[in-house]
Amino acid sequence: MLPLTASALRASFVNASRKELGDLPLPPDLDVLAWDSLEFLGWRDPKLPRRAYVVVPVDGEPVGVVLRQAEATPRARAQCSLCQDVTLPAPVAFLSAKRAGAAGRNGDTVGTLVCAAFQCSVNAHRPPPPAYLGFDVAAAVEQRVLSLRERAAGFARTVLDGR
Ligand SMILES: [Zn+2]
Repeated sequence: MLPLTASALRASFVNASRKELGDLPLPPDLDVLAWDSLEFLGWRDPKLPRRAYVVVPVDGEPVGVVLRQAEATPRARAQCSLCQDVTLPAPVAFLSAKRAGAAGRNGDTVGTLVCAAFQCSVNAHRPPPPAYLGFDVAAAVEQRVLSLRERAAGFARTVLDGR
């Protein structure tokens, strides 16, 4: 994704209340992030353990979403619905987002399973083991990265649909 300034990040949020926006902690290491290897940006709130944030490019525009982690832990071996990584038993969290606009104000939310540390981009960029002789590892990585982008943007679009 393209690099974002602190003010562009703040301005991108579509489902944040005024208070949430006022309290919004910036992602750690904002100045040194490797933006070109990120398909979306996700971080946790250092003060509120159940609060997290993602910023997802949708049609070239950043869309920021405030997320809440469910109390319940997903079943063992749950799969992240964004990167669909299966190679590591990485923790996955059930996160929900208030939809933007009137729908969100009426309590409408959308939920999804996501890697708890938002390491989806790393997962998608990791070369898979060659499945067979002549397996095109680079093409497989490209496909996974494209799928991650589409699924992340799809989730953000669902949040936006509430407007
Ligand atoms: Zn993931």
